[in-house]
Amino acid sequence: MNTATLRATQSYQPPPHAARSTPTTPAGALATDFAPLLQVQDLSLEYRTPQRVARATHRVSFDVHEADRFVLLGPSGCGKSTLLKAVAGFIPPVEGQVRLDGRAVQGPGPDRIVVFQEFDQLPPWKTVKENVMFPLLASRTLGRRQAQERALHWLDRVGLARVADVHPHQLSGGMKQRVAIARALAMQPRVLLMDEPFAALDALTRRKMQEELLGLWEEARFTLLFVTHSIEEALVVGSRIALLSPHPGRMRAEINSHAFGLADQGSAEFQAAAQRIHHLLFEHEASQEVLQ
Ligand code: ADP
Ligand code: MG
Repeated sequence: MNTATLRATQSYQPPPHAARSTPTTPAGALATDFAPLLQVQDLSLEYRTPQRVARATHRVSFDVHEADRFVLLGPSGCGKSTLLKAVAGFIPPVEGQVRLDGRAVQGPGPDRIVVFQEFDQLPPWKTVKENVMFPLLASRTLGRRQAQERALHWLDRVGLARVADVHPHQLSGGMKQRVAIARALAMQPRVLLMDEPFAALDALTRRKMQEELLGLWEEARFTLLFVTHSIEEALVVGSRIALLSPHPGRMRAEINSHAFGLADQGSAEFQAAAQRIHHLLFEHEASQEVLQ
């Protein structure tokens, strides 16, 4: 058990820049200094085939600030993956927009890297180290030597330096996900996008991975947009949680969750928060309720 992680999570203090989410602008400060890193505004997304149009999300809006751990939580099929793909730039909006650093997202870019649920996201013919180096080289972010150094650095951070030269088929599911996380963080993206990255893992490994992700965040303070359908995982991983209605996904509520960490999972407060979220997710009457 990584007690440093638990202690840090328990005594979590918002980073200095978290103050940027305050709506008031101190005298003398430019309004743009307080702009969110990522803005999702009235985003409607659809899948179109010649036969029919399926709406995946309806006018979803939320803001993600630097170093937030922002979670999209909702039942299966509510459009979480579709939202993440739109933020990644893979799916164009039919309505609304995604803005990163104030600029409209027009397509994929190295400033947004996705970690998926599937264990097969690593090309099997490349070694672990080559997998982590690949996006750095393909995007011409670094030359070969520096890419290798950076890859080894991040593999070390996820505890996998010793398997740098093996191929992915020799790794467990949890190790493959660690490689995918190292590969994403090595790119130093503006936003790390994660789509149910631990959902296919056994319960114990999943908990360990949540703990490790929080430990990495404590060190590197990256900005995270994390998708899950697990209320408990949302409370543990997130500092803010957007609750989405069933299909098509609409915003139900947005809640603060940075008070909760892995160590709180058994507590009465944690259980009460989980029940409250369950109620908000599945109560038909609930709409646009904002808890603070
Ligand atoms: P979630 O990730 O929340 O489970 P998805 O974003 O995968 O939900 O899907 C949202 C909705 O869009 C679902 O109703 C799903 O069936 C539909 N959908 C997802 N992918 C496609 C696709 N490629 N073509 C048509 N419909 C799709
Ligand atoms: Mg999904």
